[in-house]
Amino acid sequence: MSCIFCAIGQGSIPAEKLYDNEAVFVIADIHPKAKVHLLVIPKQHIVTFNDFTPVTYGSMASVAEAIANVTQRLGIAKSGYKVIANNGSDGGQAVPHLHFHILGGEPVQGIT
Ligand code: AMP
Ligand code: ZN
Repeated sequence: MSCIFCAIGQGSIPAEKLYDNEAVFVIADIHPKAKVHLLVIPKQHIVTFNDFTPVTYGSMASVAEAIANVTQRLGIAKSGYKVIANNGSDGGQAVPHLHFHILGGEPVQGIT
């Protein structure tokens, strides 16, 4: 199975990781829609929320921890930001590996 986000998580495709632990990593989006546009990516290959099981629920705690950590370190925690996860075709998901966009660094109300 070739999955770009699994390959980045495993290090076979290089990318600067702003946060990295056994459960989740964070990279900058290659096509940023805001001054700060990050992707929080669980290392388990979960495609959408449909795929969660009791075994994988814990990765959501790691996602929350990563969001709190990187937004504070990048200085956008207090000014605010948006977190988006696109799921499936109606959700407009392009990469079929669950990920969470963090958008901020400027007002992002109009950004989807
Ligand atoms: P979506 O699946 O709709 O949430 O969108 C996938 C997002 O991943 C888009 O914002 C892309 O710009 C971004 N993206 C795709 N490939 C990479 C990559 N290799 N590195 C960083 N961001 C990527
Ligand atoms: Zn994957």
